[in-house]
Amino acid sequence: MEKVLVVGAGFMGSGIAQVSAQAGYQVYLIDIQTEITDRALRDIRWSVEKLATKGLLREPSQEVLARISQKKDLSCASEVDWVIEAALEVEELKCGIFQELDRISRPGTPLATNTSSIPITRVAENTKRPERVLGLHFFGPVQLMRLVEVVKGDKTSPEIFERGVAFVQSLGKTPVRVQSDIPGFVMNRIFSAAFREAVDLVDQGIISPEDVDIGMRLGYGWNVGPFEIADNAGLDTYVTIAQTMRALGVGHLVSSSNLIERMVAEGRLGRKTGKGFYRYSPEGKRLPWEN
Ligand code: NAD
Repeated sequence: MEKVLVVGAGFMGSGIAQVSAQAGYQVYLIDIQTEITDRALRDIRWSVEKLATKGLLREPSQEVLARISQKKDLSCASEVDWVIEAALEVEELKCGIFQELDRISRPGTPLATNTSSIPITRVAENTKRPERVLGLHFFGPVQLMRLVEVVKGDKTSPEIFERGVAFVQSLGKTPVRVQSDIPGFVMNRIFSAAFREAVDLVDQGIISPEDVDIGMRLGYGWNVGPFEIADNAGLDTYVTIAQTMRALGVGHLVSSSNLIERMVAEGRLGRKTGKGFYRYSPEGKRLPWEN
């Protein structure tokens, strides 16, 4: 059975671990504290059991769950066939992780980063074999979203890039090939341009977030509105991505208003804190603000 190491057990890492286990991989999950991996495993158990109840699993939930184990450090990277890094969106942190992964893992093991905005090429520079580093940009919630952007860094080898495509397909997801390491990759650039306009119009009091979401669902056939997407992803993550986009010279794709920064300062991070552009009940039901 092939083994996958997922580094970071937050929103994205726990989803990537779950779908990898559902696809039959043996999964190792690590984070900086065992409390975090414990919580991730509880969330994964809840989600897998829910899928089993709905008849959406090919095997008993216990078999999927038995394929995921938590590890304390990166030493298990020497045993695995794939590494997916989904730690915080902080460049120095990711660079440090890739230096260690490069030292510990077998030379041919592909090293993927799920970064939303940091150039793959800069992450790869921290390894002696940048040809085996690529971007696998999953969308959240990973359990539900079928798209993964496979991103080529300047030095990613064609073989590793195609292995990335095949790996994504093996998870039951649909890959799209991004052939160049451009800032924000492709889907985030297109989304950012629409979201920038939406944030500006809301900040000017012209329309409410709920009405933008209704408009994009009913007028353009989006399944989920832009403010629902932002709340699900985490507004703190948006702020970090916006800073990186500005630093990479594509600041025109992000809003010049500081609405989201003000919300984050008030603890309105989105679904994860129960309040963002919407409020959330303890059961996770989305509710509009009164005003
Ligand atoms: P998150 O904050 O939910 O999880 C990040 C996790 O990384 C935390 O649990 C944190 O403790 C852990 N971490 C920090 N330092 C670590 C280290 N040295 N080793 C291992 N783990 C460490 O964030 P997230 O939303 O899951 O995002 C993770 C990555 O995925 C980021 O690069 C983000 O840009 C990217 N991403 C996020 C989304 C999204 O919708 N949130 C979508 C696509 C990509």
